Amino acid sequence: MAAKRLFTTALVAAIGLLGGCSIVSVEQERRPARSAEDVVTPALQDVERFWTAQFSSIADGATFVPVQGGRFPYSENDPPPACGGQQSGYEPNAFYCPPDDFIAWDAQTLIPQLQEDFGPLLVGFVMAHEYGHAIQTRIGTGNQPTVVLEQQADCYAGAWLADVLAGRSTAFKDVTPAQLDDTVAGMLSLRDQPGTPALAEGAHGNAFDRIRALQDGVDEGVTTCAGYRRTNLPVTEVPFQTERDAATGGNLPYDNAVSSLADDAQAYWQRTYPRLTGQTWADLAVQPFRAGEPPDCPRPDASAEGAAFYCPDGDFVAFDSTRLGPALHDRIGDFAIGMLLGDLFARAAQTRRGQPTRTEQGQLMVDCLAGSWTNDLLTRPANSELTLSPGDLDEAVQALLAFGRNSEGDGTTAFERIAAYREGTLKGLAACTD
Ligand SMILES: [Zn+2]
Repeated sequence: MAAKRLFTTALVAAIGLLGGCSIVSVEQERRPARSAEDVVTPALQDVERFWTAQFSSIADGATFVPVQGGRFPYSENDPPPACGGQQSGYEPNAFYCPPDDFIAWDAQTLIPQLQEDFGPLLVGFVMAHEYGHAIQTRIGTGNQPTVVLEQQADCYAGAWLADVLAGRSTAFKDVTPAQLDDTVAGMLSLRDQPGTPALAEGAHGNAFDRIRALQDGVDEGVTTCAGYRRTNLPVTEVPFQTERDAATGGNLPYDNAVSSLADDAQAYWQRTYPRLTGQTWADLAVQPFRAGEPPDCPRPDASAEGAAFYCPDGDFVAFDSTRLGPALHDRIGDFAIGMLLGDLFARAAQTRRGQPTRTEQGQLMVDCLAGSWTNDLLTRPANSELTLSPGDLDEAVQALLAFGRNSEGDGTTAFERIAAYREGTLKGLAACTD
C-alpha cells in the first residue's frame, strides 16, 4: 500500500508474541515418492500427447512436430548445450531454445526444489510452460512483448492442466484440490520481483497475472491462449511510483496498514452498499483481539481457521491482531491484511443483505465482493489517500492461499477463490452482481 500520510492512531496495539503461525507457512508434508527426473520425462511425453491432439486447432490444421533438438537436464558440472551458438553459464532455470529447438532444465537445484516445495504437478506445469514456447516458435507469435509471450506460455500450460484435471493425462492421475492449490502457490515463487515494469525485458508477470493466464488456459483452452496480445491482456504489473515506495517495498507498518485499510474498507462499503441493496451501510465495528482470546460470538462466520471472523449475532468483525495479523503482514506483506479485512467486510455485507457465506457459492461471492474493494483501490487516481503498490495483488493471492485452502468446510479451494477474487478485482462490483 502507499499512503500519503502515516496514520497516528493505531487501531490495534500490536503486542509481541510473534510466534510461529502455521497458517502462513508453506506446507511441507509431501515427501516426493518419485525423483524429479522421474516426473519430467513422463510430463514432457504427456505434454506432447496433449499438443498432438490440440496443435492443429490453432495452426490452421498443421500437424504437430515435437521438439527436435532434444531435452537436456543440466547441472553445474554438466551444462546445457549452447543455444544459437551461445554457451550460457549455470543458472537455476528451465528454458526453451528457439534456434535449436530444445528444452533444458536445471536438474540439480530448481526442479528438485520445486518438486519438494510444491509437488510434482508444478514440475509438470513448468515443462508445459517451456513447451508452450516451442509452440510459439512453431506457429509464430507476431511482435509481442515478453510478458505477453510468457503469459501465453502459462495459458498453454493451463490448457494442458485442464486435460490433466479431466483425467486424460498419462503422467498425473487423480489430482487433488490441494495439489492444484500447491501448484498455484508455486507460481508465487516463479513471479517477477515486485516493481518490475510489465514491459521490462524478461518480465514474466506478477503472480496475479500469471495465475490469471494459467486459469484462462484451464477454463478456455488453447484458442484463447493463442489470441493473447498486448492489447487484450489486463496486465496489472506496474513499477513503483515513488522512491519511498520502492525503499519500503510498498509496505506500510503493521498498525498503519490495519487502521488505514479498515477505514478505507468502511468508506468503500458506505459508498457501495447502497448500490448493492438500496440501503445505507451502518458502521461495522472492527475488534482486534489477542491470540486465543476472541470476543464472545455464538456462531462465528470464521475465516483464517477461526483466527478472524464475522459475528452475525453481534454484527461485528474480529481478528487475532497479535499473531495472525503480524504474521500475515511480516511474512507476506501489508496487503495480506487488506485481503483479511476485505474478506471480513464482504462477509458482513453478504450477511447483512441476507445472502449466504458458508455455501460454496456464498464463499465465492464473498471473495468477489472482497475483490470489488480491491478494484476500487486499483482504479483510483494515483494521488489518492491510499492506493495499491506493486506486489499488493500478489500479497492478496498469497493470503488467500494461506487462509483460503480447504476453507471452513464449504468445499471451495484456493484455486476457485482466487478466480472469484480476481473477477471482482479486475471488473469491480458488476462482476459480482451480474
Ligand atoms: Zn517462459
